[in-house]
Amino acid sequence: MPELPEIESFKDYFKSKASKKTVSKVEINDEVVLDGSGRSFQKRMKDQTFGLGSRYGKYLFVELSREGSLMFHFGMTGKFEYFEEDEEEPKYSRIIFNLKESGKLAFVCRRKLGRVALVDSKEDFIKEHELGPDAMALKWEDFQEALKGRTGKVKSILMNQKIIAGIGNVYSDEILFQAEVAPGTGIDKLDEKELKKIFEKIKSVLPEVIKNRNKGKYPEGYLHDFRKKGEKCPKCGGEIVKATVGGRSAYYCRKHQEKK
Ligand SMILES: [Zn+2]
Repeated sequence: MPELPEIESFKDYFKSKASKKTVSKVEINDEVVLDGSGRSFQKRMKDQTFGLGSRYGKYLFVELSREGSLMFHFGMTGKFEYFEEDEEEPKYSRIIFNLKESGKLAFVCRRKLGRVALVDSKEDFIKEHELGPDAMALKWEDFQEALKGRTGKVKSILMNQKIIAGIGNVYSDEILFQAEVAPGTGIDKLDEKELKKIFEKIKSVLPEVIKNRNKGKYPEGYLHDFRKKGEKCPKCGGEIVKATVGGRSAYYCRKHQEKK
């Protein structure tokens, strides 16, 4: 499932293919990913010019020239694919924006869990959905404030979009792996030093992944490629184990992420 670093890539892709271009027509292959009716969406999108786009948490917003913004949520399998008129339409294209200048941008979503919606503004959407601060802009004070009086497991807290926006299953594991804290640890069991370490890893892991993605690999000593039961920990050689935390699969090193 795409998380903050992946949405950052989608944003860049959108920017390079569709920003500042104008929609001549919208083809809708499957309304299920769309908020509202297809017909009204087609009408409202016609002749709108795309802005540059900006990411908040796991959402991408693209300002439109005439009204509002377009919101994209990528669900489990969402992505964009640009293609030329004489090229075959990508498989699982749900919505296709025909661009006046040339080419088409498809919102591809195999499992149909993604979402496309016209919204009044990014700010209103964030407020309505009560999203917490974006993980990349998170401040230590906000983090402390958001955790005040909370109980629950640290992994679930990191994944709660109302506390911090942008972190999902994979990067919550990575952040905790780097912070040397087991995912099932109660948040109230962590002292300030440990919380600070988790905060610092939020602030370093996400940009490091973004920076490294062009090289097509993860930084050395990252859990990512070893996130499998029975693997050997790339940091200490310990065993990677699987646990269920808040209904989600968590992977961690039994040796260096001691449970409290
Ligand atoms: Zn280890």
